[in-house]
Amino acid sequence: MKQIIKSVDINPQDIDLINKYTRREMKPEEIFTFSVILCDNEIDREGESFTTDSLQKLSELFLGKTGIFDHNPTIKNQTARIFQTSVEPTGETTSFGEQKFVLKAKAYMVRSERCKDLIMEIDAGIIKEVSVGCRVLKKSCSICGAEYDGCCGHEIGQSYDGKTCYVMLVDPIDAYEWSFVAVPAQVGAGVVKGFEYNNQLEKQAQIGRRHLQKLRGEVVKLSFLNQFMVNNDAFAGLVSKMNIDELEAFKCEFSKALNLKSAKPQLLSEEKMNQTNSQFVI
Ligand SMILES: [Zn+2]
Repeated sequence: MKQIIKSVDINPQDIDLINKYTRREMKPEEIFTFSVILCDNEIDREGESFTTDSLQKLSELFLGKTGIFDHNPTIKNQTARIFQTSVEPTGETTSFGEQKFVLKAKAYMVRSERCKDLIMEIDAGIIKEVSVGCRVLKKSCSICGAEYDGCCGHEIGQSYDGKTCYVMLVDPIDAYEWSFVAVPAQVGAGVVKGFEYNNQLEKQAQIGRRHLQKLRGEVVKLSFLNQFMVNNDAFAGLVSKMNIDELEAFKCEFSKALNLKSAKPQLLSEEKMNQTNSQFVI
């Protein structure tokens, strides 16, 4: 596994940048600096990849962020701080054929008793990885560019006209942590990605609305099959005002009744069924 944390010699420019974050002016001998690769634009285990624009945005967001152990953001655990970031080409090509970039950061630690062991471990190459946490606003399909919510029909990892589908992570809005990973080959190491909260709520609401529409259609259809009411338009009007619990209850009762009748099912013509359901189709 490639070592992504390396101790680096401190230079005068570094000290100036570091002193922007410290309460008092630090001297070079009091500080330990190291470089760390936070993430890149390669496709990860989940089939997702940051765009190079996202890496640029993240480079701003990670400035000044503190590194912790075990994703536990208590002050005790905050041991290192990023004071410089850059997006750099690696000279390699990504699996989807674009120039590979990494988001590289330089971080510092105060050479204190508390950080002594960690500094030794970084120097010795025992700590080789970090895991980072960030939040992005959007996931886009690499094939069609649509928001990736499973509706565009393209599947991650599948090939379309020679292009592999993956999810592009767009518009990072927050970089909230980076953690040292003590075990080099830890499976969980990598990027922890979150999504904009309101966006998620809106998605949940959409799913809820879709479920409700589907349920209404089912209840009306079942009422037909049960020959529950003569005037189906009136019943459909009633159904449109029912809440989810009422709809579930009707669905359950109608289904039960229909099962009892199943020895001689009452089938409606396809045309009439579709006509009834059309008012609930979104
Ligand atoms: Zn797509």
